[in-house]
Amino acid sequence: MVTHQYSGTALLGPELEPTKATIYCADGIITAIEEEKNSSPYWICPGFCNAHTHLADTLAMDVPRTGSLESLVTPPNGLKHRILNTSSESALINGMLFSLQTLSAAGTSSCIDFREGGAKGALHLIQAAELHKKYHPHSCTPIILGRNGGEQLKKTHGAGISSTRDEPNYQEIAAEMRKQGKIIAFHAGERDSHDIDPAISCDPDLIVHATHATQKQIQTLSDQQIPVCVCPRSNFILGVTNSAQHPPIQHMLDADIPLSLGTDNVMFVQPDLLLELKLLDTIYHIDPKDALIMAISGSSIHRRSPYINIGNPANLFLIDPTRSNLQFSRDPLATIVRRVTAFDIIDTYFPYD
Ligand SMILES: [Zn+2]
Repeated sequence: MVTHQYSGTALLGPELEPTKATIYCADGIITAIEEEKNSSPYWICPGFCNAHTHLADTLAMDVPRTGSLESLVTPPNGLKHRILNTSSESALINGMLFSLQTLSAAGTSSCIDFREGGAKGALHLIQAAELHKKYHPHSCTPIILGRNGGEQLKKTHGAGISSTRDEPNYQEIAAEMRKQGKIIAFHAGERDSHDIDPAISCDPDLIVHATHATQKQIQTLSDQQIPVCVCPRSNFILGVTNSAQHPPIQHMLDADIPLSLGTDNVMFVQPDLLLELKLLDTIYHIDPKDALIMAISGSSIHRRSPYINIGNPANLFLIDPTRSNLQFSRDPLATIVRRVTAFDIIDTYFPYD
């Protein structure tokens, strides 16, 4: 039996209640939580889920961001796809491997990746993930949503549809995924609201963006409890928003929509939710606890309870506030959202896959 124990101020349960405690884990499961007065100075936070990435476009990192959304990222001829189509297999795998390392170092235990390139593209990410686990056993696991055949592989988790506008067979793909018990996710509402209703009609497991969701669509998403992942930094960078009105994060939180956080294309945005949290605080003025729950809760889409509770899979990372001025914080939860960076993380424990 492999046992681990972690002591510090832990954010316990789905309420993230800061509690001085020691957490005991055996074989990847939290077996006991003992509250104590004199714990270590560390902070213990549940691992994050980056609920929307495109890891492969690591290779197109920081190409000039000029041009429309379509000319940059829309398949099949956007700049990103032209770069990916002319890259070698080993370069693609290496790029994804290093982005997985970046995710792990920033406290991220899983990411939900839209993988292009058909079955071959999905296999490249499977290979990158296996290499990453080999060298870093307690690290980020990608949930792979393929397309053009990638969704059919045994080792992928479902389909990631670019937009109902770009995929005429989206209903058939959704029905097939449902039959196989796999995840169905759509980009929708990134530049306007028109592709949101067709996506909702498929009863998806995840809608990515909802940047321009209307009041009526917010109500439907709420009534049907359809999970939504917002990617605000990407939205600002790609010019599909210029204010806290879009995506309507506070409205969606008020409507009780299951909301998660993603970073979208690695070519434009570093896949680091700690950085994304700073934008939620600065621009959207989201309550720190709501913001942190958004960074954690995406893993419920792939059916894992991410919180620190007895009986749950171990999923936590350690922050050392004594390395810096963070030791003066009066509110660890708010400080994680507003100030903590990957530099402050000293250990991660994400043993499951
Ligand atoms: Zn995307």
